[in-house]
Amino acid sequence: MNYEPKFIVDFMCGRLAKWLRILGYDAKFSRDTSRNKILMDSLRENRIILTRDTRLSSKKAYKLILIRSDKVREQVSQVIKELHLKLDKNKFFSRCSICNVVVQSISKDSVRDCVPQYVYETNDEFFYCPECKRIYWQGSHYTLFVKEVEKNL
Ligand SMILES: [Zn+2]
Repeated sequence: MNYEPKFIVDFMCGRLAKWLRILGYDAKFSRDTSRNKILMDSLRENRIILTRDTRLSSKKAYKLILIRSDKVREQVSQVIKELHLKLDKNKFFSRCSICNVVVQSISKDSVRDCVPQYVYETNDEFFYCPECKRIYWQGSHYTLFVKEVEKNL
């Protein structure tokens, strides 16, 4: 199944949106508390609503998952299980966790003055977010994260 789900996450599950982005998924965060607006975005952009709001009706959405836990790990785990998502390590950190934008590759030379010396010396691949200009690299946090994900999910 090559279907790549997209999400819209309600304001009560902000950390869940961040995690899904780190895993490589398009997860739009809805600051809007209006139910109609979330439902409209869901239908218009084929986004699965992730919400803790029991009054949102799945009948009016593209698809809706009612998030049961208030713990972010259990929330991520629920989404992965219900949608049978196959996590792809190559996609981890492919999106800016703040902006939900796909990060772009950037040459090592051009980040020399923007990252700590140690990071510059120990990494060859760098990425940047075209939106907020943050620079990303697959440092030790990446390996730790992958291990953590494999352990918990
Ligand atoms: Zn960004």
